[in-house]
Amino acid sequence: HSVVYWMRMEDMRICDNRALAAASAMAIKEGIPLLVLFVLSPQDYVAHDRSPRRIDFTLRNLALIKASLSDIDIPLHVVTHKPRRDIPSFVISFLRSMKATRLFANMEYEVDELRRDIQVCELGKDEGISPMFIHDKLIIEPGVLTSKQGKPYAVYSPFQRLWLSTLNGDLDKYLAEASSPEPNPASVRQHPTFSGLFSTELPTAIDGFDCADRDQMATVWPAGTIAAREMLRRFLYTKSRSSHVGLSDPLEDGAVSSDKRSRALVYKEGRDKADRDTTSRLSPYLSAGVISARECVRATLILLGAKKVQATRDTSVGVWVQEIAWRDFYTHVMAAFPRVSMGRPFQEKYADVQWETNQAHFDAWKEGRTGVPIVDAAMRQANTMGWMHNRPRMIAAMYLTKDLMLDWRLGERYFMEQFIDGDLGSNNGGWQWSASTGTDPQPYFRIFNPYSQSEKADPTGDYIRAFVPELREVFGPDVHNPPAKLADKLGYPRPLVDHKEARERALRRYKNPGVQ
Ligand code: FAD
Repeated sequence: HSVVYWMRMEDMRICDNRALAAASAMAIKEGIPLLVLFVLSPQDYVAHDRSPRRIDFTLRNLALIKASLSDIDIPLHVVTHKPRRDIPSFVISFLRSMKATRLFANMEYEVDELRRDIQVCELGKDEGISPMFIHDKLIIEPGVLTSKQGKPYAVYSPFQRLWLSTLNGDLDKYLAEASSPEPNPASVRQHPTFSGLFSTELPTAIDGFDCADRDQMATVWPAGTIAAREMLRRFLYTKSRSSHVGLSDPLEDGAVSSDKRSRALVYKEGRDKADRDTTSRLSPYLSAGVISARECVRATLILLGAKKVQATRDTSVGVWVQEIAWRDFYTHVMAAFPRVSMGRPFQEKYADVQWETNQAHFDAWKEGRTGVPIVDAAMRQANTMGWMHNRPRMIAAMYLTKDLMLDWRLGERYFMEQFIDGDLGSNNGGWQWSASTGTDPQPYFRIFNPYSQSEKADPTGDYIRAFVPELREVFGPDVHNPPAKLADKLGYPRPLVDHKEARERALRRYKNPGVQ
């Protein structure tokens, strides 16, 4: 007999992992082997617009996980399986072949994944297998936080207030560290069936997901929980480094800012500045579960020497923890309103907004050739780093939907295809926020002026200069909106649209969905 932990794309770590801890405890208790299974599913990656960078990050993490598990006598078996529809029966047949009657996995809340897991439960019944799906991804799992009427929250602020009081009401429960897996009791290396699993080769690439900048990604986003913890430590305890705006090794020492406080302690003032290295850059690690959200929040308690979690706007650390709450919020929204993960707007009344169909504009946006420097810098950052600072994400998304009047779903998909941190809940939430079709109570007439946003997000212009080489020699206000003559001379494109006119068009279209 044996116990299987089925690791998935969002829980790629071995410490503080609830399903793995539960599987390990059961294996120890029963004196039976623990096996870890990972199913690579290229069809799912296509269906969910996964980026080659994310797939590569998954494979790089798997290699480290395999080595760490092997050190404690736990085999990791990685298989590539097509088609996606059969994954439930494939998993059950794997369990059968390993004589496993217990299966543990952490929950995934997307519609397709929930359906898949329900099928696993159904198929398992016939085989006497009882799968156990455990909440692990978020600080507080979906379904716990409801309004007085028992409804899921559709607005962040009240959600966040209840999130914080619920969390502080039972810190031991919500932040408890899951125990680490222990060496396998039943000496699986001696057993012919299990020992073979140790030697299964890990694929280094998946067809259709060729990561052209693999080496660069491995430098900018090193894999593994040790790297993630170092990112967290740097954010909490070290000062920001201006040299780290562009493509560089985030863990390398660089020029530090003159501020004496760490990035976490100036996050409130610094977080919207894309021209400085002010945020944690943990999103790839949190999205892939290389580090747990619990560990991040626990670390803030240690930093502050506090007994309660701070998550109010008064302090920098509080504002940062609120971002972790946003991550919870968007996954709660996705779980409670499945339409958002099926390409529908959260606010159904905007389903008929009339979008432009202009491939040339869409291509220019994707390639960072819109003629609006902050948007172009943002898109070129996405294309080269597989990641973007939050403020430029908002500006680039708002520009696509309100200035170019292109469907937010095009942008949502493009971000997923580029980003290493692609997460359906957060990406969809961010896009619907920008398109004013989401949970945000602000009405559609909040439309960013990309030029004034640029001055706020990139006051020095360093961000634009880092990613838009045509403007590398431009200093002062011109970098945000280069005069036509200068732009022509530098070979930088003229703006695709006039912001004022585009704004009027967006107001008309949103006011009367369905009308051109
Ligand atoms: P920090 O500022 O250090 O924040 C810490 C953590 O909090 C982040 O790592 C992330 O896990 C979480 N977080 C921060 N801001 C948000 C937010 N607005 N919503 C949800 N969680 C948040 N985030 C993703 O992880 N994956 C995505 O695919 C994604 N797509 C986005 C698309 C758009 C259009 C927008 C506007 C935002 C998107 N975000 C996404 C949210 C946010 O931009 C990133 O999480 C953040 O920029 C990551 O940088 P960081 O790790 O340095 O963040």
